[in-house]
Amino acid sequence: MSTEAYTPTPRTKLRLRPDRGHYDRELVHAIIDEALIAHVGAVVNGEPRVLPTAIVRIGEDVYIHGSQANGVLGALKDGAPATITVTLIDSIVAGRSGFGFSLDYRSVMIFSHGEAVTDPEEKRGLVQAFVNDLMPGHTVRPPKPKELAATLFLRFPIEEVSAKVRDVGVLDVEEDYGLDLWAGKIPVSLAFGAPEDCPRLAEGIATPDYAQNYARPPMKRST
Ligand SMILES: Cc1cc2nc3c(=O)[nH]c(=O)nc-3n(C[C@H](O)[C@H](O)[C@H](O)COP(=O)(O)OP(=O)(O)OC[C@H]3O[C@@H](n4cnc5c(N)ncnc54)[C@H](O)[C@@H]3O)c2cc1C
Repeated sequence: MSTEAYTPTPRTKLRLRPDRGHYDRELVHAIIDEALIAHVGAVVNGEPRVLPTAIVRIGEDVYIHGSQANGVLGALKDGAPATITVTLIDSIVAGRSGFGFSLDYRSVMIFSHGEAVTDPEEKRGLVQAFVNDLMPGHTVRPPKPKELAATLFLRFPIEEVSAKVRDVGVLDVEEDYGLDLWAGKIPVSLAFGAPEDCPRLAEGIATPDYAQNYARPPMKRST
């Protein structure tokens, strides 16, 4: 049963800037849901690898997918521990020194083990979930059995997780505030342009509203 907050573990306890650490379930979910991508790290054949990849959250699990031939996914399927990070940049923070120069951000780090999804029906549902996550409302044809067979879907329970949030803007050392220098922050947001129709669009297809009015973060989810 879901509770308000995840339980910190020795691994997820923030040592540096513990005041910026959060374990609130809603906050963790919101950061994951807003992000377009995640980075999944694992040790593959003795070397660290980090894979930028699409991610979708369903309840208390996150999913990634890719080719059955993908090296990182293969190692994760075989039981390699995963560290998954999700990062949102909120501002570029221009302090009065190089060390006061920073970013405001919201990020999540998940420690987990992947489990391959093998049920074709569940895989079909996940294909739709990835589409919905990036573009709610978009309709696709059903996946073909060979496409499903060629794709590895991995599920990672969100159990050992932390969020970190920097939202303080300029934070200079006290003696720097009086310097004759500008300081401040530039808010950062993703901008989405007008949709460009595929040049091979079948005749009579209009650009749908969900593409014309694309926005992120997506609608708040109930789970
Ligand atoms: C966009 C961005 C830019 C950053 N730039 C820098 C930089 O230039 N230099 C720098 O030193 N640090 C930077 N950080 C912070 C960095 O991610 C680490 O939090 C910080 O370096 C401390 O690392 P640590 O391993 O010593 O943390 P510790 O406090 O020892 O980490 C312990 C645990 O805290 C949690 N944790 C730590 N960091 C994060 C995080 N970012 N998100 C979620 N959980 C976390 C994890 O569970 C981790 O296992 C940046 C973070 C972001 C999101």
